[in-house]
Amino acid sequence: MAAPALAAAPAGATTTPTPTAAPTAAPGTPAAVPLVERGTRAVAAHPPLKRPVATGRGGAVASVDPDATAVGLEVLSRGGNAVDAAVATAAALGVTEPYSAGVGGGGFLVAYDAATGEVTTIDGRETAPASLGPTSFLDPAGRARPFPELVSSTLSVGVPGTPATWERALREHGTWTMGEALAGARRLAERGFVVDETFRQQTLDNAARFRDFTSTAQLFLPGGDAPAVGSLFRNPDLAATYALLGEQGAAALNGGELGRAVVDTVAAPPVAPGVTREVLRGGMTLADLSAYRTVERPSTVVEHEAADGPVQVHGMAPPSSGGTTVGEALQVLDALGRSDDPVVSEHRKLEAAALAFADRNRYVGDPDAQDVPTAALLSQAFADSRACAVRDDAVLPRPVAPGDPAAPVPCAAGTAAAAGDEGTSTTHLVTADAAGNVVSYTLTIEQTGGSGIVVPGRGFLLNNELTDFTTGPADPAVPDPNLPAPGKRPRSSMSPTIVLRDGRPLLAVGSPGGATIIGTTLGILADRLDRGVPLARAVAAPRVSEQNRSAAAGGAAAEPAYVDSPRGRALAALGHVFTPVPEIGAAVALEVLPDGSALAVAEPARRGGGAAGVVRPAP
Ligand code: GLU
Repeated sequence: MAAPALAAAPAGATTTPTPTAAPTAAPGTPAAVPLVERGTRAVAAHPPLKRPVATGRGGAVASVDPDATAVGLEVLSRGGNAVDAAVATAAALGVTEPYSAGVGGGGFLVAYDAATGEVTTIDGRETAPASLGPTSFLDPAGRARPFPELVSSTLSVGVPGTPATWERALREHGTWTMGEALAGARRLAERGFVVDETFRQQTLDNAARFRDFTSTAQLFLPGGDAPAVGSLFRNPDLAATYALLGEQGAAALNGGELGRAVVDTVAAPPVAPGVTREVLRGGMTLADLSAYRTVERPSTVVEHEAADGPVQVHGMAPPSSGGTTVGEALQVLDALGRSDDPVVSEHRKLEAAALAFADRNRYVGDPDAQDVPTAALLSQAFADSRACAVRDDAVLPRPVAPGDPAAPVPCAAGTAAAAGDEGTSTTHLVTADAAGNVVSYTLTIEQTGGSGIVVPGRGFLLNNELTDFTTGPADPAVPDPNLPAPGKRPRSSMSPTIVLRDGRPLLAVGSPGGATIIGTTLGILADRLDRGVPLARAVAAPRVSEQNRSAAAGGAAAEPAYVDSPRGRALAALGHVFTPVPEIGAAVALEVLPDGSALAVAEPARRGGGAAGVVRPAP
């Protein structure tokens, strides 16, 4: 097998070789690497080369990070399948993107199985501990607590679902054991990765709250400062955590030694001496961790009329709102029809997104805690009733009211209250193998840096996912499917997506970015499927996130290049309101080309640029 495309050191690297998946013995044979000191050491190294686009055969991986992509490619080149590679890449992202994803968080995995032709999904969303109730996030007077207090606390830590997701994915769809799949990430944690600008900046952005916790400051602020660009960052504690998970499986967390460490940290976070602010505590128990279960859910699916024929768009069902919201918006677009006028086409997309967001906010939450009308939200009849309110010469006043999927009223579009937000962190990856299996996987610890609390001696951050619940007081006048409750999963926006044509994979796509994920995913799909934009350009294109916000609340967030384009100006003249934000999302995507080869795509610039690779690059 050819070496992974990204494993070679870039020209100019003269000292430490790029620390990535090492060519080693059989899977599962842990490399004999001596324990090294936690933290960083200075080396004259460069981060590995990043390529945002790769085309070829034998399998493909795209992620936000070159080391993680290389780990996934290594798995594929040694015979692992797309699911093995997805788990390996995700675990490597836990090393190199520890502020976005890892053992302490959750996520959603969507997989196409070439042998059966089926798309399955694993819901690995964090759950609320049994002690969490509807008023847990309020102060004693019943008022909302300041959001930052909830973020950097253990009150917002959900029971992690990521190790259980990896275990289930490998057991049901993979060919490698957990120990085998985590071996590359373990080596990466032991040997270290080269710190880049993005990692240093993310550390600096979090430095104030990281200092509040001794375990976090020790790991991420060695010597009191964020690791220097070009230094080697090692995390032997995380390597040991991966070794434990490899030996014991997810049980190490869901009831075992790691779980006890999490429970102890939630009960008594290692607050640094001299910190005066109150660090809110949660009440997670070992029983909560033992009770955690991933859930296999049917994918959401809509038949979409793309420019060159129908496709089936598979997404993540509730408790993520990704599948229903992207799916409903596509159904509305089908009802409206395509336009070759770029302004009209984009206007229709924004209107469709606003309508779908109104319905998301009203109806989508954890389906195991209340009824969620998933099928009705995705029906063409409901989409038709929503679409007929859209006009090409005017903008629907925001916020648009939700419709009633149980009894659709054609063309109704009053105004309504808007809903909460999610963070802007998280990470997405896509993998494909030579047999045609494809994975689209989004994982997160919520905020960049999660709760800010590293489990002492274990090398990973705890999530703050429970802030995705409605954290303010319930409004009796506004039905809210996302109120906190024991054991409940908070609503997500993560949108791992796989598009099939004639039963075969065509695209896989997803992004981080909290509630903006939905607009990013919809935008890439609309560009690629409806407007014939090549995938790499669709991923790089300027972004907008229409979330049905009033003009007073800022309207739609949009990147400056979107707002300042002729199309953006024409949309504003029509009545769309945009608030410029520097950057939205960090998507990765994959397309199966007509000749069967794979096109893997990552960001050319956002979040410092991502990394796409294939096992055998096209000549
Ligand atoms: N917690 C968010 C969600 O589940 C994701 C966070 C992010 O992407 O920043 O939708």
